[in-house]
Amino acid sequence: MTEKEFREALKYKKRIVVKIGSSSLTHMETGKINLEKMERLVRVLTDLANRGREVILVSSGAVAAGRKSLQIEDRPAEKSVKQACAAVGQARLMMLYQKFFAEYNQLTAQILLTKYTMINDISRENAKNTFRELAKMGVIPIVNENDTVSTDEIEFGDNDTLSALVAALVSADMLILLSDIDGLYTEDPRHNENAGLISLVPAVTEEILAMGGGAGSSVGTGGMSTKITAARIAAGCGADMVIANGADVGVIRRIMEGEPIGTLFLAHRDEGFRLEDYLYTAQYPGQ
Ligand code: GLU
Repeated sequence: MTEKEFREALKYKKRIVVKIGSSSLTHMETGKINLEKMERLVRVLTDLANRGREVILVSSGAVAAGRKSLQIEDRPAEKSVKQACAAVGQARLMMLYQKFFAEYNQLTAQILLTKYTMINDISRENAKNTFRELAKMGVIPIVNENDTVSTDEIEFGDNDTLSALVAALVSADMLILLSDIDGLYTEDPRHNENAGLISLVPAVTEEILAMGGGAGSSVGTGGMSTKITAARIAAGCGADMVIANGADVGVIRRIMEGEPIGTLFLAHRDEGFRLEDYLYTAQYPGQ
């Protein structure tokens, strides 16, 4: 198949996980929530659901929103402060999402996960059942890490990995990571103007894994390495994944219509891939 055909095939994806990062949800100048963008995101996602797709949103921004509300300028170094920010910010985030989704008569649900939820067989099964019921009810789940109770040992730390694990849990066939970068580059585009965007990654090889750099912006936690980890999980469990720039959330619709946007990582279902095995053995970036 050609890249064009792979892109066209995205039109027929049924269960889609969309991840948006803090840097895409906040104004660069002030760190405050970008309401217009959030509203557009909500409209695009509701439209996808209206077209018969199952949609799950993984949204960061709890710590960022909490910091703003509490007027804490720098990213908190102390864990308990970060957790307090998340507690304040998560409620604010959901309040805004529910307000915007309600305008389109779209029900939403909050799902907060920890690594423990995923590792523990009973909790994981319960989470999976909840997602299944919500899908049947036509509700869009809004997922984040339960930052207030996560500790260093059990935190995912970044929502790139979390969104891929959610995709694996619900057997999604598509994962879209919206970030502040256009996709995967041959070199770091911030330091090398000759860096070229890679449009298609047929398999997450050792060479691709080696391309992950450090974290990028000051509000999100995910750099390229977490995105490549996400690609490995998504691909292994049978979901295609696209990394694209979330500056314009309209890209979600365009990606789903088969336009060549960002980097498409093709699923290469590994029959031996079991989420449980991965959870027990994986080392997460940032730990
Ligand atoms: N869970 C964190 C939050 O909502 C974000 C993690 C990330 O940036 O990936 O603030």
